[in-house]
Amino acid sequence: MLNKEGRPTTPNAAAGRARGTFTSNRALQIEEPLIFEIGRADVTGVDMDEPEPFTPRLGGRERTSATGLPGLSEPEAMRHYVRLSQKNYAIDSGLYPLGSCTMKHNPRLNEQMARLPGFADIHPLQPQSTVPGALDLIEGLANWLMTLTGTHAIAMSPKAGAHGELCGMMAIRAALEARGESAARNVVLVPDSAHGTNPATAAMIGFEVRSVPAREDGTVSTEAVKAALAPDVAAIMLTNPNTCGLFERDIVAIAEAVHAAGAYFYCDGANLNAIIGKARPGDLGVDCMHINLHKTFSTPHGGGGPGAGPVVLSERLAAFAPVPFIRREGGAPALVEHAAGSRSLGRICAFHGQMGMFVRAFAWMLSHGSDGMRQASEDAVLNANYTRACLSDVMSPAFPDRTCMHEVLFTDAWLKGTGVTTLDFAKAMIDEGYHPMTVYFPLIVHGAMLIEPTESESRASLDLFIMALRDLAFSVRRGETERFAAAPFFAPRARLDETLAARSPVLRWTPPAPIEEPAPVG
Ligand SMILES: *Cc1c(COP(=O)(O)O)cnc(C)c1O
Repeated sequence: MLNKEGRPTTPNAAAGRARGTFTSNRALQIEEPLIFEIGRADVTGVDMDEPEPFTPRLGGRERTSATGLPGLSEPEAMRHYVRLSQKNYAIDSGLYPLGSCTMKHNPRLNEQMARLPGFADIHPLQPQSTVPGALDLIEGLANWLMTLTGTHAIAMSPKAGAHGELCGMMAIRAALEARGESAARNVVLVPDSAHGTNPATAAMIGFEVRSVPAREDGTVSTEAVKAALAPDVAAIMLTNPNTCGLFERDIVAIAEAVHAAGAYFYCDGANLNAIIGKARPGDLGVDCMHINLHKTFSTPHGGGGPGAGPVVLSERLAAFAPVPFIRREGGAPALVEHAAGSRSLGRICAFHGQMGMFVRAFAWMLSHGSDGMRQASEDAVLNANYTRACLSDVMSPAFPDRTCMHEVLFTDAWLKGTGVTTLDFAKAMIDEGYHPMTVYFPLIVHGAMLIEPTESESRASLDLFIMALRDLAFSVRRGETERFAAAPFFAPRARLDETLAARSPVLRWTPPAPIEEPAPVG
């Protein structure tokens, strides 16, 4: 890299040399500076003619100085973005056991379908009569989701799980308003194993959050819910299977108690991957549940693309669904955009939702069929239990007496007294070429390690992963703390202060100093 004076620079040259390479590259892992650091104002990848003389019509507000944007030649631009892309660990590069995230393979068939011009090239403001196929697909997906969950209505527009939670809780609030009870019922019950988005959603809409403790066995008891229920309770937000990877066995009794107390049952459906074709949340008494298409139905997420969080609603909440929704009029699907005079909660975002995600999810559903989807859930649960069985003698399962659903939770009890923490262990996994599992969540067990392999890992892939973890565990037992203390050793960046980075982000760059010439011999 050259700086503005034409001298080579690399932001971490000194650090790189300390680690043993002049460039700070590590074999084929190339250190990549910011585009501002390598770009020059006088370079461009395009060759445009000088414009003909013209009179600006911006009333004197036209720019007179350079924009200061960095310029790169085409090969430099190509390398910059390819190198950045290579820093991204993805489900396409390896096993991604992040619990509560369902990082499953995204079949390429879905991608092909999403790129069909009739889906990819349409515009949300096009007249509806020109996009009947797209509307048909949204309706088909909506029907499958309601069928799989045993529910009566659906909101397709939410853009993520957390957005779905917001939508669902707004439907509950609208229902309470219709009953004239929204002022009286201002409390939402949330078990202490809940995902952070649950209490955040409830608080954002103005509900007060009341915590429900979990039992020793990791699940919520009907008694604990009954004890927390009162005339001021609007709803409970419960995850099933829960974030400990356990099925809430008392869910039907909990739903009955919640309904008897005049409240609603919101289910966080992020873990639907464990139960498709096995249990329908509607049958379990759920009033409202978001579905993470980007988890359960294999659409890319994380760094890979946007999500989609449709919300299914029971009969009790169906009337409050947001617009737009699809209705058949004279045989053709129509998007109902306005619901004046209805009890709809209104609109929660522009347009109809994430079309690309809808196509991918529907392609996955159609290619699996109902039997294939049930099989996927069974395999996801099998893979998690296989992982659990193969690691339970060296690590400590949080709930040793129960088989798990699609993810398995370990505590750090097995690390006690070794000087190695959950974080150290997770970082050492990076050296072995694995993305770590979810750590320190859920909060109800100490030093949590939550592993979700998903159904798309083969036996061979799981065996290698398990053996890598066993090797690390034996290292811990042999007291080889140096393998963990400063891990990862082979990653270009090691222990970042993520809290500091989030709280005090560095949003300005300062030009790096040029590196010194290599010292000549002699
Ligand atoms: C992923 C997840 C969410 C939030 O979903 P997003 O799509 O990330 O907003 C909520 N609850 C649970 C249990 C989750 O795993």
